[in-house]
Amino acid sequence: MFGWFKTQLEKINSPELDWIQVEVTTYCNSDCIYCPHTTMGSCWQKMHMTLELFRELIPFTRYTKLIYLQGWGEPLLNPELFEMIRMCKDNGKRVGFTTNGMLLTEETIHKLIDFKVDILGVSLAGATTASHNRFRKGNDLDEVISNLELLYRLKRERNSQCPGLHLAYIMLKSNFHELEEIVPLAKRLGVTQIVASNLSLILGPELASEAIFNDTDLTDNYREILEKIKEHAGGEDILFAYNQPGLDETSIRCNENVCHSCVVNVDGEISPCVFTNPVLTAGNDRTGNRTTDYIFKDRLLPLTSISFGNIKHENLSRIWHKKEYVGFRTVWSSGSIAELQDGLANLPESCMNCYKRLTPYL
Ligand code: SF4
Repeated sequence: MFGWFKTQLEKINSPELDWIQVEVTTYCNSDCIYCPHTTMGSCWQKMHMTLELFRELIPFTRYTKLIYLQGWGEPLLNPELFEMIRMCKDNGKRVGFTTNGMLLTEETIHKLIDFKVDILGVSLAGATTASHNRFRKGNDLDEVISNLELLYRLKRERNSQCPGLHLAYIMLKSNFHELEEIVPLAKRLGVTQIVASNLSLILGPELASEAIFNDTDLTDNYREILEKIKEHAGGEDILFAYNQPGLDETSIRCNENVCHSCVVNVDGEISPCVFTNPVLTAGNDRTGNRTTDYIFKDRLLPLTSISFGNIKHENLSRIWHKKEYVGFRTVWSSGSIAELQDGLANLPESCMNCYKRLTPYL
């Protein structure tokens, strides 16, 4: 009887999550010019999530079907990555991660197929070597494409649909005109989905001019082109999603699915999204001086992190049900705009001044 009550109670308290995002490393073998890993320089804290810490998460995976092994780093650098994937798969979960594509050797690709990894996202910042390599320093588009061709060939030879290949394209003013070339490339590589995202975290004044939503005169033009690309991709059976190219000041909801997902950072901290991941502010020096600022509407603001707890000290289920975390989600799930507007005033600064909030995916 006690067991039955316990099960019913657990069911009532069960979070329903679409995915759990886990930052398995903050090491990276690229130096993309728009990434905090690069802009924070020597303040960036490099670490891998340990297997021991990852194990703490496993009981909580019963509340979700998908584990996405991604944070501010290159997942393939964590030597325990495939053991983590194995643990998720043993628990019947779908697994994915995004890579810069440089470490996709034949051996690694065979492993991805063997482990039946469901989603492999690959980041691009241009359709030409000149653009991509300029923004993604230490990364070479020709090499990435050659690795993806190998992935395509090996999947066919082994008659495997796994991993499903997605492309993650960062839309910048200087590479936007190349975006339409991604569709034929995607078709050639067997890609099932393309996501074109804005530069939402702007880490220096020189990058602000690259954010297409700051190019307000061209917003309609961008939108028209994006719609055409979406149509073209649809005709090739490729899903194409994009961030709205202009700011929607009426869009006050968070677009990051924060009520049905969470981010576990490399050190076990639980945040609602990658922008509030404490790893971004962990490099602040001992005197309390901030080393991480970002640009929001021409203002230089300090990045602020949000953590509702750490899985080293409490289990994720308990953290999910904490008063502060419940309160945070309640604001975002408010029924009316008026309620949401009231709630917004109580949210952390990072949420008030967030481009993600103003540029929904279409
Ligand atoms: S509004 Fe921005 S900072 Fe706040 S949870 Fe959403 S994505 Fe993160």
